[in-house]
Amino acid sequence: MEEEEYKQIFPDDSPGELSQDPTQELAGGLKEKEQSPRRLRLLLVGKTGSGKSATGNSILGRKVFESKVSAKTVTTTLQRGSREWAGKELEVIDTPDILSPQVQPEAAAQEMSQAIAFSSPGPHAVLLVTQLGRFTEEDQQVVRRLQEVFGVGVLAYTVLVFTHKEDLDGGSLEEYVRKTHNQDLAWLDVLCERRHCGFNNRAERAEQEAQLQELMEKIEGILWENEGDCYSNKAYQSSQQNVLLKVVQERQNAQGQGSEVLSEESRLEGLSQVLKESEKTHRHLLGRVTL
Ligand code: GDP
Ligand code: MG
Repeated sequence: MEEEEYKQIFPDDSPGELSQDPTQELAGGLKEKEQSPRRLRLLLVGKTGSGKSATGNSILGRKVFESKVSAKTVTTTLQRGSREWAGKELEVIDTPDILSPQVQPEAAAQEMSQAIAFSSPGPHAVLLVTQLGRFTEEDQQVVRRLQEVFGVGVLAYTVLVFTHKEDLDGGSLEEYVRKTHNQDLAWLDVLCERRHCGFNNRAERAEQEAQLQELMEKIEGILWENEGDCYSNKAYQSSQQNVLLKVVQERQNAQGQGSEVLSEESRLEGLSQVLKESEKTHRHLLGRVTL
């Protein structure tokens, strides 16, 4: 199973690609899956300054990612860290601002293909990080982009993580979310099947562990619902194609075609070119991935 993990980015579209061990296929076509895999890949996303890196450090129980106040992102490359937790290996992937609206589509596509390779064959959970009491239009745009690039199904694998939990002043996060007047946030919580949790990233160790325990309970829920599968390669593949298609369109628009609808032929030609480039990037990255 280990060697499956980073094997390929563009699988054929056999659904069996995701089952990790053919011996798990039972006679009647029923699959007995490991509902809680030993190694879990957790992908942190959110706008700059929301507290992704700090949350990653809290989960890991040590400072792996740089985290500080800054108008610009201080995380410029994808990074990962891991730890053992209750017999599992948690692999935490911190991201630069791949989903921020300010990022140009071409740069975003590049970053996305890297993030996909980095978290291949897909994250078991996406942690959408937002600062408590500061859910803005920018967070909402991040959500839209997340769905654009990963596919709408990604929210079924997403936990909403509120940082600055200490701002609740001992109050309940449940109540905060239930009573919020921010309709976008309330709706997002519903779409994430009410999986949310809070982190005070400045808390002492015991509180940090309790926060992690709570997060892991939400993640266990995701694993249970998805029979232990990570967010699929196939979804990754198709969502990536959407991003790349967008890039191709923008390129062609920039080349003077205005808002004209692109001919199918030129779309496909452009797409296949970008996909080839991207595949090369993947191979290069996969060669570099060390565990
Ligand atoms: P990122 O850009 O999303 O990775 O955000 P960072 O992790 O770099 O955090 C931005 C700033 O918020 C840093 O100064 C963190 O120390 C601070 N921060 C993050 N989480 C918390 C939290 O739970 N409580 C407090 N008080 N500060 C936090
Ligand atoms: Mg960061």
